[in-house]
Amino acid sequence: MRIVLLGAPGAGKGTQCKHVVARYGLLHLSSGDILRQQRAADTELGKKARSYMDSGVLVPDEIIVEMMAGAIKKTPEAGFILDGFPRTVNQAAELDKSLACSHQKIDAVLNLKIGDRIVARRMTGRRSCPQCGAVYHIENLKPKVEEICDNDGARLIQRPDDGPEVVANRLKTYHQQTEPVVDYYKNSNNSTVYDIDANKNADEVSTLLFEKLDALVKA
Ligand code: ADP
Ligand code: AMP
Repeated sequence: MRIVLLGAPGAGKGTQCKHVVARYGLLHLSSGDILRQQRAADTELGKKARSYMDSGVLVPDEIIVEMMAGAIKKTPEAGFILDGFPRTVNQAAELDKSLACSHQKIDAVLNLKIGDRIVARRMTGRRSCPQCGAVYHIENLKPKVEEICDNDGARLIQRPDDGPEVVANRLKTYHQQTEPVVDYYKNSNNSTVYDIDANKNADEVSTLLFEKLDALVKA
């Protein structure tokens, strides 16, 4: 299966991908996570991406398309789930072109639908583990011990782009540049788009996603 998970920043894409990977064995490819790893390793790519990410705007398409094309090449037999990519219509078209070269396509697009106010609270309350990348929320998905990662005991951090000002910019960027990607896929003959109500709690959202993905596996 080759799946794209769409949705505003903070909609719960990373949280849901963990469950999807555990159930279906897909490779989780998060463009945001890959960029943060590049930054942590202080690579040329990480240096180029830094200022865009910190101000809540998109990293240029050519950088992202090349980065993700490289990552997709390492996909296992079971397939992949893309999280945070594509984020512009141009990225979606480039992805289709590059998959078509190897006679592949995106099988389904799952679109997490959620209101701006809820998603802004999810982002500003998000806390991440700097060691293992686990994601928590100060109200909705708390660690067992406050501010400490359940997996490795590291102190949780707030992402620099999860402060209120950058969050507002990221939402604006999402509406201007990423929302049109939903229509790109809705108008395409290749991929089916499923809208998912992401306002529900994480387990309920997983159930909705599994319903769609189970049907795809059977088909
Ligand atoms: P994204 O990957 O789309 O940016 P995340 O998966 O990191 O979003 O989730 C954003 C924040 O919202 C995190 O703090 C996460 O713990 C929390 N969260 C995710 N899904 C839900 C949900 N269904 N209900 C409440 N909080 C959620
Ligand atoms: P995320 O973790 O998905 O919220 O992404 C964090 C930041 O990384 C975004 O605000 C962008 O600056 C950058 N980024 C991630 N994915 C992409 C993408 N597909 N295209 C452009 N920029 C991206």
